[in-house]
Amino acid sequence: MRILEIALFSSLALLGIVSPQNGRAQDKSSAPASARPEEAPLTKITRTDREWKRQLTPMQYYVLRRNGTEQPYTGATWNNHRAGTYLCAGCGLPLFTSEAKYDSGTGWPSFWQTIQKSHVHEKPDNSLGMRRIAVECARCDGHLGHVFEDGPKPTGLRYCMNSAALKFIPAPNSAKK
Ligand SMILES: [Zn+2]
Repeated sequence: MRILEIALFSSLALLGIVSPQNGRAQDKSSAPASARPEEAPLTKITRTDREWKRQLTPMQYYVLRRNGTEQPYTGATWNNHRAGTYLCAGCGLPLFTSEAKYDSGTGWPSFWQTIQKSHVHEKPDNSLGMRRIAVECARCDGHLGHVFEDGPKPTGLRYCMNSAALKFIPAPNSAKK
């Protein structure tokens, strides 16, 4: 009888009906199957100024943490045409894909849409006597660049980013151009 019980329990555990640890039905309510990972609310990443300084290069720190702007035509990705994903250089959050990148002629990497609208924050920036919309990473609040309304179709937006604020991850087997 005991052996039969164990055999029954093992098959139920294999089927995922009961959990081997406590024998109770597993609670799956915390992770509904319909929720894709990118739709989950972002958990903020906060570090002290000292920690950011230690983690980032001086140029990354200047752009991301001091709202700096790199000189045009100097960054690593303004002229990058490879397929891949652009992550936040501060926290690794995916921000843009190569499909939305285009040559804006500005010398800064430019995109007509973000990978996911919730991955960036936009806020008014009236510094330097200009009225602009600054774009920040929604997870670490790192300054990425600005967004303008003179971009190409279909959005008409130009996300004018700093190369230093982005980390490019080439797609597997993407050819180097
Ligand atoms: Zn970030």
